[in-house]
Amino acid sequence: MTTSENKPYLRIATEEAFATKEQLALFKRVLDQPNVDKGFAHLMGFYMSSPSERAQHIMRCLVDLDELRIAHMDASGIDIQVLALTSPGAQIMDRETAVSFIPNANDELAEAIKRHPTRFAGMVALAPQDPAASAKELQRCADLYGMRSAVINSHTQGEYLSDKKFWPIFEAAEALNMPIYLHPNSLPAQMIDPFIEAGLDGAIYGFGVETGLHALRIITSGVFDQFPNLKMVLGHMGEALPFWAYRLDYMHNATVRSKRYEAIQPTKRKPSEYLKENFYITNSGVAWGPALQFTQAFMGTDRVLYAMDYPYQYLPEEVDMLEQVDMTPEVKRQFFQDNAVKVFDLKI
Ligand code: MN
Repeated sequence: MTTSENKPYLRIATEEAFATKEQLALFKRVLDQPNVDKGFAHLMGFYMSSPSERAQHIMRCLVDLDELRIAHMDASGIDIQVLALTSPGAQIMDRETAVSFIPNANDELAEAIKRHPTRFAGMVALAPQDPAASAKELQRCADLYGMRSAVINSHTQGEYLSDKKFWPIFEAAEALNMPIYLHPNSLPAQMIDPFIEAGLDGAIYGFGVETGLHALRIITSGVFDQFPNLKMVLGHMGEALPFWAYRLDYMHNATVRSKRYEAIQPTKRKPSEYLKENFYITNSGVAWGPALQFTQAFMGTDRVLYAMDYPYQYLPEEVDMLEQVDMTPEVKRQFFQDNAVKVFDLKI
């Protein structure tokens, strides 16, 4: 089934976006409302209306789960895409709309995987607005389609998964052994202004800052003490958290001891220990040897996975750039294939 050149592993890309027509129609309805969320208007408002070549290309690719996508995979040497409903999934929709839309999106994903079982795998999309419905949807997609992972696009209308009301989602994910990919979302209203003012709210910087904050909130709120076998995945080299690890550990300890914040209660382990034991990290959007090698050194080579971030960052030459990074053949195989097979429980 290897479609690219002869190599002793498959290249599995693990943060690859798609959209359904229904999702885009619902996005359009949100965008047409007065007082639409600024971050959403800047993200999907741009892609869905801009005549620019980049936006048009992305919209074409997002809705294709057949020939065009597979041609792009072949052209860039990608054997398998692990698909995720594009950000913000259903998280910008009102609760009722989100809950009724999400099963349709997951059914469409399952159909695409059925059409191309050797090329696609996928994550369950969720409506965190309804944690109980999310837990049920995880179970439904696991039972019906054998789906083995889920995606949540960071905050849900300014609310974070560190809030205990969302923890039924973690409880279900842990029980079903389904990792949750914490993917970026556009910035929430309460933090976006200084980013937009500088044009830095998007993938250039804002997404990473906000998703890193979200992952940290999950860690410091004690989620992993409550659900020690919960697995999460972070893209974009862990949203820079590995680089912060030393200071996070030192300052977390100092803050706990000072009893300065109600929200920072003691946790059983250091922030860096949760990062290394409960998280997996993909390189999505970062085709850069020094950052990859540092992340592998910090996390262990069995916890760092390949991702392209198609179609938002479709650059076939980046695959070669990553192939050129100094890794042993064993580590390269872990990076491109074995870790993805393990984390997403792929049947290859
Ligand atoms: Mn992405």
